[in-house]
Amino acid sequence: MSETKPAPARDATQTRPPHVLIVEDEQALALLLAYNLEAEGYVVDRVERGDEAEMRIAETTHDLVILDWMLPGVSGLEICRRLRAREETRELPIIMLTARGEEAERVRGLSVGADDYVVKPFSVPELMARVRSLLRRAKPERIANRLKAGDIDLDRETRRVRRAGRDIHLGPTEFRLLEFLLEKPGRVFSRAQLLDFVWGTAAEIDERTVDVHVGRLRKALVRGREKDPIRTVRGAGYSFDETFGKN
Ligand code: CA
Repeated sequence: MSETKPAPARDATQTRPPHVLIVEDEQALALLLAYNLEAEGYVVDRVERGDEAEMRIAETTHDLVILDWMLPGVSGLEICRRLRAREETRELPIIMLTARGEEAERVRGLSVGADDYVVKPFSVPELMARVRSLLRRAKPERIANRLKAGDIDLDRETRRVRRAGRDIHLGPTEFRLLEFLLEKPGRVFSRAQLLDFVWGTAAEIDERTVDVHVGRLRKALVRGREKDPIRTVRGAGYSFDETFGKN
């Protein structure tokens, strides 16, 4: 094989059409999805095996991955877990395809970090709608390296948090917790949801763990008479106060 093919121009502009990777060993389904995605203007890349998916993701930039659960090589669940563990792919939007609508599977899929899941058999228009909605949701977050609210400033690249110009030292869990809450100000998350999304291990950890870490986060963020940006919603959970810094 010759290596004379010129490297494709690295297109970092936002006008580049979204690139979608399909990881699916059922060829007929993969082709059907590719056909429909291409018809909507996406650039589609396809692999059939879990181990191939990892290599392809490492060498190309994708905007979204459609990931089948049951794959030869490495399972979709394991791939998802590995992608989330790596800095470069931590935010990569992933839709998992699951064979059965069993609740345990859904919870496991979401707990390893999939953004969404679709149960087979599914309608193609439904999946297309999920793809569009996930890209819409994911994009602004991926563009924003810094999350700001009032005098709080979180930088995802340097992993630094500042409040009113001073450095806030947070443990990794408190950092993720703040990052997650800051992405959706005003939205209330239950302790179980926070365990799912921030810890990624819904079942094994006591929900009171969430309270402990929220307590630590508050202690780190709030000095003297400063306003507490985290709202405790009785019987519901926690949210980042959307009015913080606005009054
Ligand atoms: Ca499969």
